[in-house]
Amino acid sequence: MGDIRSHRLSREDIEANFGDIHPPLDRPRALLEADRCYFCYDAPCTTACPTGIDIPGFIQKIRSNNIVGSARTILSENIMGGMCARVCPTEVLCEEVCVRNTHEDKPVEIGLLQRYATDPVLEAGIPLFERAASSGYTVAVVGGGPAGLSCAHRLAVLGHEVMLFNRDAKLGGLNEYGIAAYKTVDDFAQREVEYILSLGGIEVRQGALGEDLSLAQLRNDFAAVFIGVGLSDVNGLGLEGEDLAGVENAVDYIARLRQAEDKTQLPVGGQVVVIGGGMTAIDAAVQSRALGAEQVTIVYRRGPEHMSASAHEQELAQINGVSIQHFARPVKILGESEVEGVLFESTRLDEDGRLTDTGETFHIDADVVFKAIGQKLRASDLEDESLKMQWGKIVVDADHATSIMGVWAGGDCVAEGEDLTVSAVQHGKVAAMAIDRYLHAGETS
Ligand SMILES: Cc1cc2nc3c(=O)[nH]c(=O)nc-3n(C[C@H](O)[C@H](O)[C@H](O)COP(=O)(O)OP(=O)(O)OC[C@H]3O[C@@H](n4cnc5c(N)ncnc54)[C@H](O)[C@@H]3O)c2cc1C
Ligand code: SF4
Repeated sequence: MGDIRSHRLSREDIEANFGDIHPPLDRPRALLEADRCYFCYDAPCTTACPTGIDIPGFIQKIRSNNIVGSARTILSENIMGGMCARVCPTEVLCEEVCVRNTHEDKPVEIGLLQRYATDPVLEAGIPLFERAASSGYTVAVVGGGPAGLSCAHRLAVLGHEVMLFNRDAKLGGLNEYGIAAYKTVDDFAQREVEYILSLGGIEVRQGALGEDLSLAQLRNDFAAVFIGVGLSDVNGLGLEGEDLAGVENAVDYIARLRQAEDKTQLPVGGQVVVIGGGMTAIDAAVQSRALGAEQVTIVYRRGPEHMSASAHEQELAQINGVSIQHFARPVKILGESEVEGVLFESTRLDEDGRLTDTGETFHIDADVVFKAIGQKLRASDLEDESLKMQWGKIVVDADHATSIMGVWAGGDCVAEGEDLTVSAVQHGKVAAMAIDRYLHAGETS
């Protein structure tokens, strides 16, 4: 990496750049926003929410100043309603379908209202849930990200004991190690984890499936098992020069950034190239700019409409001075021992919509290259097990049951995972309710 000092911003600038991207509403603004809701009978916003939160219901409670009741409406469907209020791509979920989302108007700010209702409850640690009488069963939950925590919480509410195993030192999964820093300031991820665990009945142990634990052992020792290990491996480019100094997986850099005590001490590139088209690419690019990188270019092999980052996220990158170059694929990483640039070949879609190379090449200078072309399940996580897999992910049914009796799975590691926090939370919740039915069915048969 070049002279990292020369690209550094002042501490004040870095702090400002990493401030809360959507500052919370105050009471007058929350009331104004709540008053804009039509309280639709068949609320499309609720149907569009992966966790099915009664959105008009919680907004109505804000209007009547019943903030605790409003939070209960949210958290009873989505225990991570506080984090989802910050990170959900609402522009393609509830707010996209809001009946006020027209050319002349704008959608109700559902995400901000959700945060308005949940923040005070989490801050004050107000208990909203009671545990049912003990069932006598203990369930193993593997993975303490959104899927695992949601599953563990619902199981504990239903009266089961939970043993939660997690690979990372901290719980929260990508809420703690992945989500962009300016979306979740003031250690919110850990505060939310504390709130979830405050219910009781969830014992946490550090340990990794495939290393310290095996599925066979867990199935033997526990009444049921839930797997929510996420995707902790990354796809490589398979290109010459990939091992040069200055070439890094975007998720690793983001994790270091999220864990940094002092962001002013982080290395910053001068000319950064990010290869990929998803949220990880956008976050690596925007956060590099926020740290002071002079020139940041995202290069994606297809067009803007094919990027998995939403139009809103792409706009966020551009507002922050990130250039996005479409229709180009990397051919070679250039440099001797340190990266000096990337050679690209232009691509286009042929008449059948297939991606083809054009033969034209160009290069972009770079002292840092981030690879952000997707994550995958770590092979060792589920080694030697007879789990049915598809496209490298675990196959589950509508209840999130896997092909192995007594084992459920959810979150990014399952085949239909949408790679969103809110979907992972829903998977964990659905699986917990199915596990509860399974355990009680065993009593009567
Ligand atoms: C950079 C980045 C930015 C993102 N931004 C957003 C966003 O803005 N909005 C949004 O909705 N989504 C976003 N996502 C996606 C979202 O973070 C994930 O969809 C979500 O965290 C998935 O939850 P999970 O519980 O399945 O997995 P994870 O969050 O990955 O958690 C997995 C957990 O399992 C543990 N674990 C892993 N392997 C093992 C093992 N073998 N044994 C035991 N424990 C194990 C880990 O320690 C971790 O705690 C982003 C993702 C990334 C990478
Ligand atoms: S669609 Fe919009 S206006 Fe209708 S209930 Fe939902 S938030 Fe309110």
